[in-house]
Amino acid sequence: MTESATTGTGPATAHGLLSGLDEIAEIGRDTRRGGYSRHLWQPADRELRDWFAERAVRLGLDVETDRNGNTWAWWGPRGDDAIVVGSHLDSVPGGGAYDGPLGVVSALEAIYRLQASGFRPARPCAVLVFAEEEGSRFGIACLGSRLMTGALDADRARALVDAEGISLGAAASAAGIDPARLGEDRTALARIGLFVELHVEQGRGLIDLGSPVAVASSILAHGRWRVTFTGEGNHAGATRMTDRRDPMLAAGRSMLAVRDAAVASPGSRATIGRIEAVPGGTNVISSQVAVWLDARATEDAAARDLVTEITARVSEAAAAEGCTAVVAEESWSGAVAFDPALRDRLVRSLHGVPTLPTGAGHDAGVLSSRLPTAMIFVRNPTGISHSPEEFATLDDCLAGVTALEQVLRELL
Ligand SMILES: [Zn+2]
Repeated sequence: MTESATTGTGPATAHGLLSGLDEIAEIGRDTRRGGYSRHLWQPADRELRDWFAERAVRLGLDVETDRNGNTWAWWGPRGDDAIVVGSHLDSVPGGGAYDGPLGVVSALEAIYRLQASGFRPARPCAVLVFAEEEGSRFGIACLGSRLMTGALDADRARALVDAEGISLGAAASAAGIDPARLGEDRTALARIGLFVELHVEQGRGLIDLGSPVAVASSILAHGRWRVTFTGEGNHAGATRMTDRRDPMLAAGRSMLAVRDAAVASPGSRATIGRIEAVPGGTNVISSQVAVWLDARATEDAAARDLVTEITARVSEAAAAEGCTAVVAEESWSGAVAFDPALRDRLVRSLHGVPTLPTGAGHDAGVLSSRLPTAMIFVRNPTGISHSPEEFATLDDCLAGVTALEQVLRELL
């Protein structure tokens, strides 16, 4: 949360969109990285869920958690074919205040406004908060929606481990979720007639378009790969420079090769944002170094080709240092084209706002394989996201709420 957002000078609302962001502003602050670290079933996540339930109950909504740890708040009776809006409350390590929470507080605010105007929904309606959207604890993004749709196998999910070596199954148990019941949830899917996610934009698209909001057109194909370099662990002082097989150097060469491969493939993106050295001592040549690759492209084939090219370059880089490299896929999401009919309906009801592709993955993208989904983006004046610097102005946030309110009024 930044000062200008908490004390913004735009029009205040009775219920208070940004008071929602204010109320959670101290939850999960990361004093080392800055920003927030809010991860699945850890104390900050529990506090955020309690906050959400309390906020929802104040609006007269009925709160429940499904068997994959996603939290629902129903406006009126539960039922199939509901209009569902929402996002997530978890963050990347050291993330910003808006990615996820803006969609959740905007959904609550839009419902508040509809209630205050005397509007009565003709269809079931719910706010849905997905679990572990960022994949920060167990490594798989959109965990809650992937489990719900069956895109992630329940056995594989239960065996995932966090940085402390705690399995997802054990963490679920500790959070009161029965690990045996994780997995495809047809009851929950039948409940969602369509899903609309409002989200802060994570690039500079809306700055260029000069609009506070847009409707999403597509999501890039994207995935995560673990690259493990193996060399020879040895003494940093006693080993001559010519006698080394240092996997850290293989990783270093590879990072440049990854950048070069992505630059040579227009529209593609490739990032190495995480590295782990074994054993990780200052006076020790590593025996093994793992890095994680995030690669994205507009089409599935282009993303696959990029990773094939990167794999070849990484192997070359490793060989040049007398090391080996193994590239293993950890997750994959094909390119998403959002439901055209729903997209066009949103654009019409929002008086012709622009449409915009995004390079970021979202639960709305995962759900799109099973039901119509749409997204509304709110302008990010710096284009910075997944960082404490992430920001949106109060006026743009309020424009987002107004858009969501308008869409709900039309869909319900
Ligand atoms: Zn997000």
